[in-house]
Amino acid sequence: MQIVRQLGRLLLPVACPCGELDVRWCARCAALLAGPPVRAEQGAPRLDRLDGVPPVPVWALTPYAGPVRDVVVHWKDRGRADLDHLLGPALRRAAARLGPALSRAAHGSPGDAPLAVVPVPSTGAARRARSREPVAVLARAVAVGLHDAGIPARVVPALARRGSGRDQVGLGARARGRNLTGAVRMTRRGGRSLGQRSVCILVDDVLTTGATLAAAERTLERHGHDVLGATVLAATPPPRTSGQDGTASPRRTWAEV
Ligand SMILES: [Zn+2]
Repeated sequence: MQIVRQLGRLLLPVACPCGELDVRWCARCAALLAGPPVRAEQGAPRLDRLDGVPPVPVWALTPYAGPVRDVVVHWKDRGRADLDHLLGPALRRAAARLGPALSRAAHGSPGDAPLAVVPVPSTGAARRARSREPVAVLARAVAVGLHDAGIPARVVPALARRGSGRDQVGLGARARGRNLTGAVRMTRRGGRSLGQRSVCILVDDVLTTGATLAAAERTLERHGHDVLGATVLAATPPPRTSGQDGTASPRRTWAEV
């Protein structure tokens, strides 16, 4: 039996992205993704709308650090599509827990139309390199989780990336806003599917600066839709950013958010 197992390991080596052998994912990594979802928008400087409206609420399961980073990288870019079965259920449970909060936030929205779960689009180059859209898996999981919580929801892949959004660094506030909105567009099919006025929740894998998420939010709003919030697997702990005088100014850490 021992020999068979060793042979099997040689032929089909199995390991958690963190390095633990003989399991597709380990209990420790699974525990890191067990939530509960935590508000993370304060750590994403580019979610700042610059118009006085508070940034869109973002719920994350965990900081994007340590073994979670390995799991996400292997899942997205190293062919570990089997991790769909770890990450999807994790986000499904999170969405079910968010259900009541979203339901309250959606109060007063038009009709009883299902909540539109909108994946934040990857760049065309990333999609071609992966030959799949990992975020779509997460969006489906969120829709199912909302159903679990009694909230009708449907996935609407309404958005696409436009060219290469210029980096925000060095742009003034107004140009930054224009640049943000320009990075994401509504697809014709997405527009039809969302109809006149939908209530949306955005889904992404990792929240970093928030620039793309902000662009997605703006695009939906510009087309008349309401964005209740966004949910992501993980959020980058706030970076150390350079102050105006060029010195590094530490931002708040995840734990303090
Ligand atoms: Zn692990």
